[in-house]
Amino acid sequence: MSRALVLNATFEPLCLVSTRRAVVLVLAEKAELVHTSGGYFRSERLDLPEPSVVRLGYFVKVPYQARIGLNRRSVFARDGHRCQYCGSAAENIDHVVPRSRGGTHTWENVVAACRSCNNRKQDLFLHETPLSLTRAPVAPRERLWVLAATGAVRADWEPYLTPASSLSAQSA
Ligand SMILES: [Zn+2]
Repeated sequence: MSRALVLNATFEPLCLVSTRRAVVLVLAEKAELVHTSGGYFRSERLDLPEPSVVRLGYFVKVPYQARIGLNRRSVFARDGHRCQYCGSAAENIDHVVPRSRGGTHTWENVVAACRSCNNRKQDLFLHETPLSLTRAPVAPRERLWVLAATGAVRADWEPYLTPASSLSAQSA
């Protein structure tokens, strides 16, 4: 299914919708066309440039964290599918502070990990192991929910999303 990025009135990215939904928003004058994909949206009565990015005509207030589900797929997307202890291909998610020892299931306490590090970690605190984190885990920004939802970030969406480089800068 082809999708379009929806921007808030203030140009911050809000969500992805189907192209059909984006067309409806534009036709109902709830959103304006910002970018087209180059293709056309065709139906019986319509022949319109296919929206790639649309911007709402009104401001929507959304708490940012509510938009991103914390799950294996989104954690892997945030961590680039790499073990956050050793850099190998990730296979599991690991709670930095083990859940059995009071660790929470939150973005700040969950990382992608390879099986080997996950096994070494077990139910230990980080300082009780020889492992260390390559960077502190943080809640992801917009680019990540797009990545987690579609597997790729389209070039015409890039200007509206947090650059990948600022993701690691934030964890400092
Ligand atoms: Zn590892």
